[in-house]
Amino acid sequence: MEQPHTLVEALQGHFIGALTFDFTRYLIAAGVMTLVLLALPGWVRRRRIQKRKATRADYLREFFSSLRTVFVFAVTTLTTLAMRETGFLKLVGGPVDWGLLAVQLGAMVLLHDAYFYWMHRALHHKALFRATHLHHHKSRTPTPWAAYSFSAWEAVAEAAFVPAYLLVLALAGLEVHFWVMLAFLWHMLARNVMGHAGVELFPRFWVDSKLTDWITTTTHHDLHHSEGSHNFGLYFTWWDRWMGTEHPQYKERFREVVSRTRPGKVDAVPAE
Ligand SMILES: [Zn+2]
Ligand SMILES: [Zn+2]
Repeated sequence: MEQPHTLVEALQGHFIGALTFDFTRYLIAAGVMTLVLLALPGWVRRRRIQKRKATRADYLREFFSSLRTVFVFAVTTLTTLAMRETGFLKLVGGPVDWGLLAVQLGAMVLLHDAYFYWMHRALHHKALFRATHLHHHKSRTPTPWAAYSFSAWEAVAEAAFVPAYLLVLALAGLEVHFWVMLAFLWHMLARNVMGHAGVELFPRFWVDSKLTDWITTTTHHDLHHSEGSHNFGLYFTWWDRWMGTEHPQYKERFREVVSRTRPGKVDAVPAE
C-alpha cells in the first residue's frame, strides 16, 4: 500500500478511518436493536413503554443528527490519537493482563457514569438547555436511533470524557490498554441504545432485586424522555437516588410495563 506523503494526507486517512469506525458502530448497535425489536412483534407490543409511537420524522431527525455526532466523535478520536502520538496520552497495546483490564474498565465506567450524571444535569440548567440538550429531548418517544441524536454542543460534551479521562490518567503516570477503550466504547453504545429502545428489555424481577436494581432499565431513561425532570443517570441508579432525582414512580412504571400479559393495555405514559 502506498504511504501518505504529507501530514495532511496522513490525518485525512486517520479521519476517514475514525469516521468509518464511529459510524459503523452506531449503525451496528442501533441496527441490531431495531432488528431484534422487529423480530419479536408480540413481545414488543406488550413491552412498549409509551402509548405514543415515534414518527417517521422522529426516526429521520435522530438518524441525521447522529451523523453530526459521528463527525464530532471522529474529530475527538483523531484528537485522541494525535495526543497519543505526541506523548500526552498513554494508550497502549501489547500483552493483556485480564484482571487489570477488568479493573480499568470498571473504573472507567464508574467515572463516566458520574461524569454523565453531572454533565446531563448541567445541560438541563435553563441557561444551557435550549442551546445544548433540547435537540436530544425532541425525541419524546425515543428509538434506538436516538442514541447519538445530539446537538453539536452536546456531542462535544459527550465526547470530551474519553480524552479528558486519558489525559488525567497520563498526568498521574497511568496507561490504558486499547482493549479497555474498545470495551468501554461498545458498552457505552450498547447501554445507550438499550436506554432508547422504547421497549422494556429487562426481566421482570429487575427493580425488585438488590442484586440488579442499581443498573438502569429502559423505563428509567424512557421516563426521562417522556417527562424530563427525573432520571438523569446513564448506567446506574445511584446518582439519581443520592441526589433525590429518581422518578417517584419509576419502579411502579417498570412493574406495570413488564407485567402486561396482552398488548393494548398500555397505560404507563399518557399520550401527548
Ligand atoms: Zn436530558
Ligand atoms: Zn436519551
